[in-house]
Order: sequence, then C-alpha cells, then structure tokens
Amino acid sequence: MVSTRPFHLKAEVIPRPVERLAELLPYARAWVDSGISHLDASYDYGVPESFSDLIAPGVRIQVPFNGREVEAIVLERLEKPSVSGGISAISRVISAHPIATVESLALIESIAQHWVTNPWQLLRSAIPPRVASVDRNIFPETSLNQMNDDGKRSFAYQADAPFVSPATSAAEIISREREHGSVLVIAPNTRDIAAICAALSKLGVAHFRLDSSIPRAMRYANYLQSMREGDWVVVGARGAIFTPVKNLRTILVFKESSHQHYEIRSPGWNVRDIAILRRKRENLTVIFTGCVPSLDLSLLIENNELTFITKPHRLNVRAFSSEDGSLLPGRIFDDIRKGLSNGPVLFLMPRKGYGNALLCAHCKNMAMCSCGGRLVVTAKNAAPLCVLCSRRYEGWKCQWCQRDRQYIVARGIDRAGEEISRAFPNFPTILSFGGVIKDQVSNRPALVLATPGAVPTVETGYAAVVIMEGLNFFSHPDLRAQERARELFFETSGMLNPDGFVLLCIQDSHPIVSAISRWNPGAMIRRELSERLEVPLPPYVSSAVLVGTESEFTSIATGLRKAIAENRLAHTTKFYGPTNIGKGLSKIVLYFPHKDSTVVKSFFAELQRRRSIAKKERLEMRIDPYSL
Ligand SMILES: [Zn+2]
Ligand SMILES: [Zn+2]
Repeated sequence: MVSTRPFHLKAEVIPRPVERLAELLPYARAWVDSGISHLDASYDYGVPESFSDLIAPGVRIQVPFNGREVEAIVLERLEKPSVSGGISAISRVISAHPIATVESLALIESIAQHWVTNPWQLLRSAIPPRVASVDRNIFPETSLNQMNDDGKRSFAYQADAPFVSPATSAAEIISREREHGSVLVIAPNTRDIAAICAALSKLGVAHFRLDSSIPRAMRYANYLQSMREGDWVVVGARGAIFTPVKNLRTILVFKESSHQHYEIRSPGWNVRDIAILRRKRENLTVIFTGCVPSLDLSLLIENNELTFITKPHRLNVRAFSSEDGSLLPGRIFDDIRKGLSNGPVLFLMPRKGYGNALLCAHCKNMAMCSCGGRLVVTAKNAAPLCVLCSRRYEGWKCQWCQRDRQYIVARGIDRAGEEISRAFPNFPTILSFGGVIKDQVSNRPALVLATPGAVPTVETGYAAVVIMEGLNFFSHPDLRAQERARELFFETSGMLNPDGFVLLCIQDSHPIVSAISRWNPGAMIRRELSERLEVPLPPYVSSAVLVGTESEFTSIATGLRKAIAENRLAHTTKFYGPTNIGKGLSKIVLYFPHKDSTVVKSFFAELQRRRSIAKKERLEMRIDPYSL
C-alpha cells in the first residue's frame, strides 16, 4: 500500500550544454528512484567525460527521469547501452563516495527478487542518508574485497546460558571471531545494541555503531568507515544487515527470534534470511544467539544443517496455578518472601495499564459500554472508560444487577504494582514498562515489576523471578505465539542469580515448567514442529500475505483460483481469504511448498507488473512474514 514518493531535489536544474561522453565505457546502468513501482528499476545513462573518473558502482548520482531530476545509484559502466536511442546523460554526481560495492548491489538485487520488490525499497533501509559535511571530510576509497576462500565457515545457533547476560556472551563470541576479520552484529533494538557495545568495551574490543539512534552524521561516517580497508566490529539494528563491511568474515544475529528483526514496511524482509543468503554468497560464518531458536532455525537444526550449541543447566523452578482469579496464587507468598530476603524479585507482567477489563464484583458480568466496547479502568479510583468510544462512566453501575462494586481483571502493571506492594509492605516497588523503562536495578531487596522487553538487569541476577499469568503469554492467536512465549520465559528466567529460583504462575503440567528447569526447550519445539508438519504450516511451507482494498480482492481471489486450476500456480498452493481486516482492506494468505516458491514469486511479479501498467496501486505483499 505504501507508494513511495520520489526523492525531489531542492536545487533547480539549469539545462546544461551537451557534453561529450566518456571515451572509455561511455554508459552506466543505474537504479533510479523513479517513484514508479516497476520491479526492474534500472536504466541506462550516458557518462559525461568530465564525470568519468567518478562514475563507479555504488556512486550516488542525479539523473533526468520523466521530466524530473531524481536520485540514482550506479550499478555498472557499459561499453554499449542495452537500448538504442533516447539515452540521457547523468546530470550530476551527488557524492564521490561509493556507498555500495558490486557485491552489495548484487546482494540487494537478489534480495529484491526474493521478496518481489523494487530495489529502492531496500536501499532506503540499507544505506543511511547522506550528510554533506561528512562527505567533505572523508576521502573515498575503493579497493577490491578479498574473496573468503580459506575453508569451511561455521553456521551455528549458540544458545544463551542462564545467569550470564546475553550481551556478555555475545561480546565473547565477537571478540573471538574478530581474530579472523570483520564482524557485523545485528541486534533487535537500541537497548540491546547499547548492552552489546558496553560488553565489548569491557573486553577492550574496538567497535562502532550503525543504528538510527546515533546522530545522522556519525551514522553516515560510520557507514563509510566500515567500507574502508581494515577489520571492523560493526553493531547495528536490522537495516545494517545490508552493510558491505570490509573484510567481513562473521555475521552475528543477536536474539534471533525477535520480531524486531523483521522490517515493518513492505516487503517485510528479515535479518535471518538475509544473513543466510549472505553466508552463501560471501562464504561467511553466521552465528545466531538467543535462548530458544525460532521454528525456522529449529527446522534447520533438526535437519542437521545448523549446529546447535548449548550446555546443560539446572534451574530451581516451581509452578503455581491460581484458581480463584487472585493475582498471586496462595502458596507462592513464602517463596517470594524468601527471595526478598536475598535481593530483588522480578515480576514479569503480561500487560501495561491498570485495569484492562472490569467485572461486576457481584454477578461477574463483564462491564460493557452501550456501544459494545469493553470498559477499562486507567488509574486508581478513576471512572470506567470505554475502549471504543471513550465514554466515561462516572458512578458506574452494573447493567445486569445494578450494583456498583467493581472487580478488576486483566490487571495491568500499575494495578499489579498496588496489589503486590500491599502484599509485601516495606519493600520499594520499581515499575518498568513502555515509555518508562528502567535499565538496571541494584542488588538490594525490591519488588521489580516489568512488562516483556522492559526488564531491568541486575548485576548479580535476581533472587527470584516470578512470571505472572503464565498461560496468557502462550495464548495469543498468531502463529508465533508459542515461539515468542518460550523465548520470553527462558530469557527472563535466565536473569536469575545461580542460587535463585523461578516461580511460574502456570499449571505444573505445562511443558514450559520442565523445559526451564532443564534449560532445554527441545521437547516443546519438536512437538510444535510435528504439529506444523501435519497441516502443513511454516516452516514446512512458505507463506505470503497480500493486502489491498476490499473492493478488488474478490477478483484477485478469483484470479488466484483460476491460476491454480490452470496450473500456472502449483495445485499444492493453498489460499485463505479474502478476509476483511478493517479500514476497507482485505487480505489473502497463501501457503506453498518451498520448491514452488520461484513459480509463485514470478506469478506475483507479473501480477504487480500488470497492475503497475494499468496504473493500479501496488499490492502490499509479504513473503514469509513474521506473522500472518
Ligand atoms: Zn452485576
Ligand atoms: Zn463505548
């Protein structure tokens, strides 16, 4: 759906006198930021003699296109153009710095084919915006990359151990791999990047960052620096996976199963698949880290294509289930008190907010608004509020029995904080969630409440980790819910100190209980994989999601059905939908065997091409997305 706006240059373009073309290789092929979503965005231009020394693969230029001046990137120099006549000349060299190499442009081209997209969609993520002052101070340097051909490279998933910070473990791997050449590290977010950089500094490993949280000029300078001669350690977020780091030998993907390794904008490429692609093209060592591999990697481990490295550990785990709806199961209090005598106790909460649902304390009916929306309570003693129409219910009364006593369910972290600090008085209560993330807490006894992704670290580890409403984390409807919950339980439990214990608010029979205590998710993963194989679902098949306006999706569905019937798409292709997803949009989900993916992708490419010619909007399409 996202139609990309072409990059308009502010400077007015004055027609230049026609100049002689270069004597040697007088033409160049370039990707043009045309704003038109044809899949192949490459066009030929003449190279004026005066620019000849500068025009090389990866150089940013300005070219005329459809009566406008737009940005382009040089792919290669040519002796002869691929079309005859009507070839314009390059107007300007935007920067003399090559910002991509022949190899990285070829990589982007193959990724564009893989995700059926226009290369400019990827270039926006892959290359940081130019900063003119940096360009003036760094001199371009081009030298050929040495081919990595000295033997076999490892391809492994290194499982994080409990009681050690994952960033520290990663820093040790990076420091080891650094002996062989440059290392590119991709982490899900700024918080993880900062933790890895701190751990690298502690080990005395020089490194630099490449993510959008550092100043633009620094990011651009670091990007150029990583392409210069030398051995580098570059730490960045997902966009950095494209970086053509000089002498690259190893890619490390930190917290591999994180959803943040998936690009949000169409076409939704992901770091895991690009790392695997780069490994094959560039003969790299690729190491994934995390507590529990994603199902995608689990399948590679089952097939002996990826090495799984782990050590056995024993954790002290106890499970408690709450029968009466109270926040903390009755028998858990003694254990929490014991934990509090040794240090901070972590409570992992599933939700932000206060009361995310409200019942009548008498008849237990759910409190609803007259519009059909659910009522919530946003703070202590606040009037219930409708989630849909925001109507406030001052002096609320149950619509069924007319009584006014409220019973809060689906407690958010604010409400849980009140209840827990009341249950354990005289201990400080620390909340960490959403916009108020606390990075670290001290070793002193405290009640620490946090939501996923916001858990503060403790240098010596938590005295106890309590995972509240455990089943809640496993009961989300999407395909990755089990995978996400497993990683979360392991990662959070691993923040324990070696003498501490894990308290899970979940049935004792739940497989996560024994998985955590043996620090081994194998049985859970194998069970889920065998269920997936039966249907079959990803990772045993590929998937794709198409999103577009509701009005045209009936005909798109008909077209797909016809294509399957006529064998233009393999008969093994299954599709579901169109499903209305609101805002006038519909979606279609497709599953197809991996071996048919070339056929399916060329079908999609043809579909997009026809739409483009018919001046219809591009369909938003995602191949193997994080979630369907
Ligand atoms: Zn009632
Ligand atoms: Zn309402």
